[in-house]
Amino acid sequence: QAKDAGRGCARYFSSELQSEQEDRVRLESDLRSAIASKQFHLVFQPLVNAKTQKLIGFEALIRWNHPQRGFVPPNVFIPVAEESGLMPTIGAWVIDEACRAAASWPEPITVALNISPKQIVLPNLPNVVSEALARHKLPGNRLELEVTEGVFLGDNGSTLDVLKRLRALGVGIALDDFGTGYSSIGYLNKAVFHKLKIDGSFVREAGTRPENVAIIQSIVQLAKSFRMSVTAEGVETAEDFERMRELGCDIIQGYLFGKPLSYDRANQMVVGLGARRMAG
Ligand code: C2E
Ligand code: MG
Ligand code: MG
Ligand code: MG
Repeated sequence: QAKDAGRGCARYFSSELQSEQEDRVRLESDLRSAIASKQFHLVFQPLVNAKTQKLIGFEALIRWNHPQRGFVPPNVFIPVAEESGLMPTIGAWVIDEACRAAASWPEPITVALNISPKQIVLPNLPNVVSEALARHKLPGNRLELEVTEGVFLGDNGSTLDVLKRLRALGVGIALDDFGTGYSSIGYLNKAVFHKLKIDGSFVREAGTRPENVAIIQSIVQLAKSFRMSVTAEGVETAEDFERMRELGCDIIQGYLFGKPLSYDRANQMVVGLGARRMAG
């Protein structure tokens, strides 16, 4: 009896595994055609100065609308794109689109974009970025790249070199989701990062978990001692905002100040900023 149950179990698992694999193969082939058929677009989430509450820029986030699947979240398709070698192509598209948007906006509005660990190992990434800057006549300091601590995993020594070459273009480099990775802080003193982004999970639970406040305090202190600025991600409520401002975060990102917006909506926000400034 037990044996039968065991076999049934094995059969069940293997067919589930098989269909998972088939799903994946389909997702991968859908991804391959997504760029050519213009299924990707970028959305832009506002970044706000904690002291003045003024708009300082946006984080560009990729969106994929598949004609049959509908919306597929980046957390689902980016890992597949990475493993199937599609990330450099998708990533180059993101870089170009983000530069185009940034170039359409006035100083000092910056645009940040995410670079996945599989992109950073490409020695030609600095060329891809510098060509996009040139194509859109965008000064490097209007662009920011966000990388996670994952870029240092399995690093053969070239990551730091690539980051330095990017820095040399005037581009800012932020360390994203800080505190959630394997957090070896040794690389912070290599002077390639200009900003730390505190992961939203710490921010959102700071009200109920005092240990999160302690973590945020030490991240802010660490950042200040390396002359980096600090962004708090995932700020959803007025209390979150007050708390993060008091803890010394410089920049605020989260639903309180805006969800990721279409280019047109983001543009209206930028134009609104100009009008307010002229009036004031
Ligand atoms: P991330 O870079 O840490 O981006 C922040 C994520 O938090 C975004 O999710 C954003 O929509 C979400 N978020 C922002 N504010 C709030 C808030 O107040 N509350 C909550 N609950 N969430 C908030 P999204 O767009 O789904 O992106 C998820 C991740 O996918 C990103 O995390 C990033 O790692 C990756 N990703 C997104 N776009 C790209 C891209 O163009 N290239 C690469 N390589 N990765 C990307
Ligand atoms: Mg990010
Ligand atoms: Mg993040
Ligand atoms: Mg993230």
